Amino acid sequence: MLQADTKLEEINFLTARERNALQAGDINCVEDILRVPPRRYEDRRFSAPLSSLANGESACLQLRIYSAAWRFSYTRFYELVAGAGEEGDIGARILLRWYNMPYISKLLAAGMQVSVYGKLRSQGGQWVMCNPDFEVLEDEDAGHRLAAAALGESVSLPGGGSLSAQEKIHTDRLVPIYRSVSGLSARSYRSIVWRILKEFDRSSLKEPYDPAPGYPLAAALADLHFPDDERTAHKARLRLALSECFGRQFAVAWNRRNIREKTGLVTATTDYYLRELVAALPFRLTAAQQRCLREIRTDMAAPVPMHRLLQGDVGSGKTLVALCAMLLCVESGKTAALLAPTQILAEQHYRNFCRLLQGTDLRISLRTSGRAADSDLIMDDPQMAQREDEQHPRLLVGTHALLYEKNRPRNLGLAVIDEQHKFGVAQRERFVSAEEHPDLLVMTATPIPRTLTLTLYGDLDVSLIDEMPAGRGEVVTALRHPGRMKRIISFLRNELSAGRQAYIVSPLIEKSEASDRASATAEVKRWQELLPEFTIGLLHGRMTPEEKERTMTDFRDARTQLLVATTVIEVGVDVANATIMIINNADSFGLSQLHQLRGRIGRGTHKSWCILLSAAKPGEPSREKLEALCRTCNGFEIAEEDFRLRGPGDVLGTAQSGLAGVHFPEWLSDTRLIYRANKLATDILERDPSLSLPEHAGLREFTRSLLSRAVVRSVG
Ligand code: ADP
Ligand code: MG
Repeated sequence: MLQADTKLEEINFLTARERNALQAGDINCVEDILRVPPRRYEDRRFSAPLSSLANGESACLQLRIYSAAWRFSYTRFYELVAGAGEEGDIGARILLRWYNMPYISKLLAAGMQVSVYGKLRSQGGQWVMCNPDFEVLEDEDAGHRLAAAALGESVSLPGGGSLSAQEKIHTDRLVPIYRSVSGLSARSYRSIVWRILKEFDRSSLKEPYDPAPGYPLAAALADLHFPDDERTAHKARLRLALSECFGRQFAVAWNRRNIREKTGLVTATTDYYLRELVAALPFRLTAAQQRCLREIRTDMAAPVPMHRLLQGDVGSGKTLVALCAMLLCVESGKTAALLAPTQILAEQHYRNFCRLLQGTDLRISLRTSGRAADSDLIMDDPQMAQREDEQHPRLLVGTHALLYEKNRPRNLGLAVIDEQHKFGVAQRERFVSAEEHPDLLVMTATPIPRTLTLTLYGDLDVSLIDEMPAGRGEVVTALRHPGRMKRIISFLRNELSAGRQAYIVSPLIEKSEASDRASATAEVKRWQELLPEFTIGLLHGRMTPEEKERTMTDFRDARTQLLVATTVIEVGVDVANATIMIINNADSFGLSQLHQLRGRIGRGTHKSWCILLSAAKPGEPSREKLEALCRTCNGFEIAEEDFRLRGPGDVLGTAQSGLAGVHFPEWLSDTRLIYRANKLATDILERDPSLSLPEHAGLREFTRSLLSRAVVRSVG
């Protein structure tokens, strides 16, 4: 009997092709197969008689095949004449045609009783159905089925017997439709699931904790794939979503408790550097920045590691708060590191820090994979390096390169991760997985709804900068048809002549490298011709670090007025004099991404313009998205709208955001379910912190798997 963890190789009815396809989709065992939920269901319950159906309708019919033959018209096809009534009853007759599927002739033949599902067409007074899905209900010649099996077509008939009325898989029921698993038809996947449900040992399917007593997991999965009706399908999904949500909330609650049991560093300072910095700033910290800083310093002073999220809309001034925290850390004798998602951003932070801390005796270093200039970090003698770092703690700014062993910061007291959503949870944890637990501050400018914060960052405390610095220029967002380029260009010319700068963003970076460069270059050429009097720079992800840096420096120093860029400028880039952003094919970007992009302008005192170019017509969904962007600059409102339009899984990207393994993303926005699961989890940990009660044995095991995953993270 198949077990939940039986590997594909041991499932003897899978063909090699099926096995490969599944494995390519990261489906490796019986349970994995069952865990892939149907994307939707198709109602293929038997339809009314043919006479009451209309042209173009999809229908499921039970038919007898009268005759079968190969035919030719333009191309060869296999045609069956079938009907629901007597052979002579023309009104109940239909032609079933299969194109490009030669093996059908081995599966279907005259005399069989079949059910078919497909779209009806009326052709010259005849009903026709092309390439319908089908099932053999009764067949006078079992040999056909053996042929089918030999062909690897999954007309899998459990137990070898003929299908009874209740055992229809592809027709005459609510039929599950799956997201395509590389190279497997929905029909094959459905057959595999069916067969597994028949043959596997239900008691082998376990979950750490049963959040829905009375409705076992296995039963819910069976209902999920082959429900009797819509209500059952809904009930099953809810049950599985709750289980998934609970698992997530429990892991988060458990992590949270764990972190708080660790011994952290106590940061004690006189605020020497902090006061110097603040005094030198040409502006005052906003009240929100001050509040967040207070929260952070309280954490840092406590003997428990800080695990905090600093949230704030684009441009709210998170970096400065982080820098303040870094100064506290350095003053107390430890190194503070800032991890940025891109090299451009790391360089920018580095440059800013150097500027802001000019005149202090602080050491600031930059570490990116593209630059070896700061080779003082990699000393030949590790012991000497260690001593050096202990005597002279530093501010360290870098990219992913900081995560590699040889670059791992020594004597680390505070780790700051900028734009956390660009990193994985694993990378975050890896950064602080030292023996002495450094404080952790993660920053994100992807505002997300409160409940999602609980799910994604529930093990972090949250500080929110809910106020923008004063004196920012207004940002106007306008949606324009690409056909109106002339006016846009003359507007742009005026602004550039007045000394402002502009970004032109294109959704270029995709497909092949060659065509990519070409199109970016072409875009530069185009603008050069349109605005010959200005200098134009080009920035895309495949340039070398040096090229990127040169381009950014030229733009920052206003040697170029126009910067043609891909979305590499999406995060963090900060040039206050740039007041115009033109976004080509705006509808091809996500809403949150557009908001991020727009965050590059409106950083100075001048009025700014974001021009979204799109040919989308009023009423189209992509148009709706762009209109939302024109209405508001509030990141939280935009996030809510984005989740509403696309769903959280798509917005956040499941793998990156730690949402991998989420099969029922609907719970991500189900506030009640999340609070319920969260309460369930915290109650359990409150009542039984060591999880020693017998009913928590599964959860104890689960936490062990969380632990080992954490270990794998820190070494892998
Ligand atoms: P984000 O939150 O998007 O990371 P940044 O940290 O890049 O925002 O800050 C955006 C700009 O605002 C920077 O140029 C920064 O110097 C400036 N800034 C930060 N705090 C203030 C403030 N209190 N008043 C005025 N400008 C500020
Ligand atoms: Mg930032």
